[in-house]
Amino acid sequence: VTSDIFTPDADLSSRLRARGQRVTSQRLLIHAALGDLGRHATADEVLSAVSPRLPSVSLPTIYATLELLEDLGLVHRLETGEGTSCYEPAHPSGEHHHHLICNRCGRVSAFEDAGLERSVQKMARRLTFRVEGHDVDLRGTCAACLADADAVATTGA
Ligand SMILES: [Zn+2]
Ligand SMILES: [Zn+2]
Ligand SMILES: [Zn+2]
Repeated sequence: VTSDIFTPDADLSSRLRARGQRVTSQRLLIHAALGDLGRHATADEVLSAVSPRLPSVSLPTIYATLELLEDLGLVHRLETGEGTSCYEPAHPSGEHHHHLICNRCGRVSAFEDAGLERSVQKMARRLTFRVEGHDVDLRGTCAACLADADAVATTGA
């Protein structure tokens, strides 16, 4: 699986060097795997994706690398609410989407909304604030979990 929205290595290499970080094949592969996964991936999923190429890599290394990439602005981390996070490539161009996060099953889906983007720009002008990025994570119950809840016909838990 390849991603059509992902341009990995040139940008990563230059950012690593600019921050005095070594460019290692491990870092490049982990970053590339995240792009190839093409969705919101957990550290476990990244580990599974890279282990054929990096058989000795461990989960703590995956976390440490993702954290480094997050610091460099190349990876976006998303809290999914059960003490877990998922990760996706961040685009330096500012191209982005927003998230629906299900509190019940942890499912993350993406959405975009032009009206929302315009509202942010309008608000920025009104508040005289130069917005360089924003996150919109909507938390609640996904359609599948809503349907389950209806089927069980209970309220709450
Ligand atoms: Zn759900
Ligand atoms: Zn996303
Ligand atoms: Zn946005």
